[in-house]
Amino acid sequence: MNDQAVTDQCADSCGWVANAGEYREFAALKGAQRADWVVIGGGFTGLAAARRIAQMAPAARVVLVDGKRIGQGASGRNSGFVVAHSTPDAGHFANARARADYNALNALNRDGVSALKGLVTAQGIECQWEDTGTTYAVAGQQHFDRITQYAAGYDEIGVKTRVLEAADLAARLGTAFYGHGLEVRGGALVQPAMLAKGLAECLPPSVEVFENTRVLGVDVEDGMGVVRCVGAVVRAPRVVVAVNGFLERLGLLPRRVFPLALTASLTRVLNAREQAQMADVESWGVLSPLSFGATLRWTKDRRIMIRNTAEYAPSGIGVDVLKRRRTVHLTGLSRRFPWLGKDAIEHTWSGNLGISRNSKPVFEAIDNTIFIAGCYNASGVARGTSMGRFIVDMALREPSDLLDRLRAITPATRIPPRPFFDVGVRARLAMERWQGRGEG
Ligand SMILES: Cc1cc2nc3c(=O)[nH]c(=O)nc-3n(C[C@H](O)[C@H](O)[C@H](O)COP(=O)(O)OP(=O)(O)OC[C@H]3O[C@@H](n4cnc5c(N)ncnc54)[C@H](O)[C@@H]3O)c2cc1C
Repeated sequence: MNDQAVTDQCADSCGWVANAGEYREFAALKGAQRADWVVIGGGFTGLAAARRIAQMAPAARVVLVDGKRIGQGASGRNSGFVVAHSTPDAGHFANARARADYNALNALNRDGVSALKGLVTAQGIECQWEDTGTTYAVAGQQHFDRITQYAAGYDEIGVKTRVLEAADLAARLGTAFYGHGLEVRGGALVQPAMLAKGLAECLPPSVEVFENTRVLGVDVEDGMGVVRCVGAVVRAPRVVVAVNGFLERLGLLPRRVFPLALTASLTRVLNAREQAQMADVESWGVLSPLSFGATLRWTKDRRIMIRNTAEYAPSGIGVDVLKRRRTVHLTGLSRRFPWLGKDAIEHTWSGNLGISRNSKPVFEAIDNTIFIAGCYNASGVARGTSMGRFIVDMALREPSDLLDRLRAITPATRIPPRPFFDVGVRARLAMERWQGRGEG
């Protein structure tokens, strides 16, 4: 099959979701409703919030709504790194405030990792969880100093690492593409859609889940939260908003968070000839320290995932664009695995990160009724799980040291108005794409 034939078959199809098994279906919400709590968004944040409410207030009626299918937004579409320690970029150590923010975010990450691991174990969630840590790797010598800087940063916060040279990387990853790398202890790899699906399926019975229920807006009227959905309206004294990059569409916190669209592809299970090329290499996950470097996974079920594009596309990624991105994925795969069949890609999809101008999350209350958590860049599997729990604790005034640290983190700053923002963000992405060329 030639490249053109490959790209012609492309439609948005998330490989993780497609391989997660059968999903339980939930009805859409209809009519006028009353609840004790409404949770908007059924990703990792919303699922953790709903679980925490059920734990703290077992008699409460909790209505969880999602505009699409539960767990099939970014939570089911991500690369599956359950991040314990965010990348130690130099800015995190610039001053005491930056350092405190970084340490608090890492404490949340670790809290999320352990909460997820606890649930996966206790509930027997089958999601290919592996405590493998993370490997950073670069190909070009001009980027080797990034690895050195990361090694120093992790050392500073007491995280164990091991520098990997080209031969170590080739033996570990089954590709001779990389020249320098760093193995970082902590965190896990997971099949994200299986994890999100498993978490949704074991929600406590007091949580009522409704899919395909898009929320149009949220207001506070006479001390009550009013959640207006397509086909329904729910009133509740407390509303948790967990919609990640799409806050502004609900009229909440304008110009604080914006969506960044990523695209990824997953191969079929490699055939016997291809698997022989990987020898007996165990599953792994590789991140690049460059924004436009590729994220790769060699999965437990012998597939390869690649994510090597990012763009600002507030109106979404159309099929034509996705086809073009798929050829970028294929190029990235061929560079690393020249023996891989041109027909190897089975699924290609897009998904959105929630980003803020200063890379800080959103964690806020409006009128003591609407409680908002989101925007974790690419760390939302663990951090979203932790912040979903703590947004409920904030609403309930349930004290803890970690909640205090979370509340002290520098808030997400405002982004400039459009169209200035659109021009600025596209220029910045073009620069980063240029810097990361050769690593994608
Ligand atoms: C390609 C890709 C790779 C990534 N890789 C990683 C990774 O390896 N590790 C990591 O930690 N993070 C990664 N991320 C980020 C991670 O997926 C997110 O941070 C995380 O999913 C955030 O969880 P959430 O619950 O806050 O939001 P989401 O998972 O986005 O869930 C929000 C939910 O809200 C729903 N919603 C939105 N608007 C409405 C509305 N108006 N009405 C009703 N429902 C609505 C959506 O349908 C969605 O289900 C990646 C993201 C992408 C796209």
